[in-house]
Amino acid sequence: MDHEPGPAGDGRRRIARTDALLAEPRLAEAAERLGRGVVKAAVVAAQRRARAGEIPPDAVADAAVESLPPTACGLRPVINATGVLLHTNLGRAPLSDAAREAVAVASGATDVELDLETGRRAKRGRSALAALLERVPQAEAAHVVNNGAAALALAAAALAGDREIVISRGEMVEIGDGFRIPELLAATGARLREVGTTNRTAPEDYAAAVGPDTGFILKVHPSNFRVTGFTRGADVAELTGLGAPVVADIGSGLLAPEPLLPDEPDAASMLKAGAHLVTASGDKLLGGPQCGLVLGREDLVRRLARHPLARALRVDKMTLAALEATVRGPRTPTEEALHADEAALRARAERLTAHLREAGVDAVAAATEAAVGGGGAPGVVLPSAAVSLPDAYAAPLRQGTPAVMGRVEDGRCLLDLRAVPPERDGELAEAVRAATP
Ligand SMILES: *Cc1c(COP(=O)(O)O)cnc(C)c1O
Repeated sequence: MDHEPGPAGDGRRRIARTDALLAEPRLAEAAERLGRGVVKAAVVAAQRRARAGEIPPDAVADAAVESLPPTACGLRPVINATGVLLHTNLGRAPLSDAAREAVAVASGATDVELDLETGRRAKRGRSALAALLERVPQAEAAHVVNNGAAALALAAAALAGDREIVISRGEMVEIGDGFRIPELLAATGARLREVGTTNRTAPEDYAAAVGPDTGFILKVHPSNFRVTGFTRGADVAELTGLGAPVVADIGSGLLAPEPLLPDEPDAASMLKAGAHLVTASGDKLLGGPQCGLVLGREDLVRRLARHPLARALRVDKMTLAALEATVRGPRTPTEEALHADEAALRARAERLTAHLREAGVDAVAAATEAAVGGGGAPGVVLPSAAVSLPDAYAAPLRQGTPAVMGRVEDGRCLLDLRAVPPERDGELAEAVRAATP
């Protein structure tokens, strides 16, 4: 191996050159797998450590190999032990195995826009759209865009243009990260016609505002907050006869009622109540990939799908695949977590705790409260159970492989099990042992 000249007078400190290191079999193989740039960065960093005297010169190749990332992408898998089912910072809904397999299939060349029978071009994503319509027969047509916000923006552009969107002052919602629905709508060029007040808006308020300049009436589900006390809102059913289309933004993506979340609106019920269009996210309670759903009357869906912006907001083949597998497939991890049995969660926490205590870990089982999260079902408490550890565990768990994200409460690091699939308990225990000093 070629070596850099060592510092003058120090014959021992000879660090292999970059090219020579990149030719080392393990690093050459890694370059095939991860790309030369990724491996070179690891090599250069290891050389720098050797020059700084942190590692011996002959350990540079080993150090570089050890520091290689497992994939060519910076994202790392995380076990979500936060007790928040749809954690925005963890990418909201985790995909089901069925959806992951569908993504793998679609990631290559696939018939997303081709009819293999005839060899002709076919409607993009037709099987995903068909799956949605089978689950929500109340919808005449469906369209899929990048996320819930895109669905709203497209509805505003296609149905209002520069005309008015009638919206209650009680539904002017900030979604998160500083993004606000009224500003999003206004950014498309539509004008907002605010009606009612923060706490009370009646059907008459809408009726007085609807006129020739109305594009549509928008109902927004206040999904991340609750207003209680002296309140009044108008139901979709009270607004459908006013002569303007009613668009219901339900947010969560529930296709049908969920008995555990009676206050969460769902697409089927909204359409039954007379909504002409429903918009929703794919990666909240639906438990699928990030996308935005538009369901409803065929002529309106077509106007959205044919609008020039539809092309800018369209989803990729992998999203369509994951969405279809989510809609057709088995229970999603989100549904599993939502429906997890409290006694079973407690039993898991106790089993894990006993196992960890045997390994000398200061672990205790604790009763906890989990939440839906992702800006959904505010105030809904899901009784749960956790492995409670000293809070010094939080950082090493987060930095381990796989990373484990718990939550720190009252000086303890809680690993809440509700959003952790039971089959990952072994990995979780292993991660805790690895994080034990
Ligand atoms: C989450 C949410 C949105 C935004 O959806 P994204 O998929 O995050 O773009 C819009 N409206 C409501 C009511 C929501 O809950």
